[in-house]
Amino acid sequence: MKLKDKVALITGGGRGIGKAIALAYAREGAKLAICARTEAEIDGTVNEIQRLNVQGNGWTCDVSLEESVKNFVGNVVKKFGRVDVLVNNAGVMTRPIPITELEIKKWDYTIAVNLRGPFLVTQSVLPIMMKQKSGSIVNVSSMVGRGAYANFIAYATSKWGLEGFTQTLAAEARSSGIRVNSVEPGYVATKLTGYSGSKPESVTDVFVYLASDEAKGVTGKMLSSSAWKSQIK
Ligand code: NAP
Repeated sequence: MKLKDKVALITGGGRGIGKAIALAYAREGAKLAICARTEAEIDGTVNEIQRLNVQGNGWTCDVSLEESVKNFVGNVVKKFGRVDVLVNNAGVMTRPIPITELEIKKWDYTIAVNLRGPFLVTQSVLPIMMKQKSGSIVNVSSMVGRGAYANFIAYATSKWGLEGFTQTLAAEARSSGIRVNSVEPGYVATKLTGYSGSKPESVTDVFVYLASDEAKGVTGKMLSSSAWKSQIK
C-alpha cells in the first residue's frame, strides 16, 4: 500500500476524475476527505470509499468561497488532525465560444472556481503542511493550459494561471518540505466532456505516484497522465 494512513484532501471528489483519484487513493490505504457542492454525489463517493474499509469523509463546499473553504478545511483538521496530500481538482468549463461572445459572468465564474478555488484551498491547507514539514499538492490542469486552443479563453486562462500558481508555489514551499506539481489528465469521460474520452480510472496512476513517498524530491513538474513515467526520468 503506497499511501497507508496518509490523509488526502480532494476537491471535486463527488464524480469524474476527483472521484476516481479518491478511490485509487483509498485502495492504496489513504484516508480521504473530499468536497464538492452536490451532497448526494459526495455521499456516493464516501460510501464507495468506506466499502474499501478505509476512512472517508465528505463535506459540501464551494471552493470559490472563502468561508466555505475555511469551514471545510477546519472540519478536515478536526476529523483527521493532518493533511498529507491536497489535490486541487474541482473545476468547471464553459462551452467553446469566441471571446467576443463570452458573457463576463461566465469568465468570472470560471476563474473563481478554477483559479481562486485552488488559491483559497491551498492557503488554508499550507500552514498545516508547513507545521508537518511535509506535504504533496497536486493541481489538476489541462492540455488547454499548456497550448493554444481557440474559443476556450476563460478555461485556458484559468489553467495557464494554475500552471503559474504551481510553479510559483513549488518554489515558495520547497524549503518547507512541500512538493507542488500539476497534472494534465488527457481527455477523460466525465460530465465536463459530455462523457467522451478515456475512463477516469485510467488516469489516476500519476496521482498515486505524486502523493506517495516514491515521488520524494519531485516538485515543480508539469506531468501528463499518459506520459508521466518518461517525464520524471
Ligand atoms: P466533472 O465530472 O464535472 O467533476 C468536477 C467536480 O468538481 C465535481 O465533483 C463538481 O461537483 C466539482 N466542483 C465544480 N465546481 C465546484 C466548486 N465551485 N466547488 C467545489 N467543487 C466543485 O469534471 P472532471 O472532468 O472530473 O474535472 C475534474 C478536473 O479535471 C477539472 O479541474 C477539469 O478542469 C480537469 N480536466 C478534465 C478533463 C477531462 O477531459 N474531463 C481534461 C483536463 C482537465 P459539484 O458540481 O457538485 O460542485
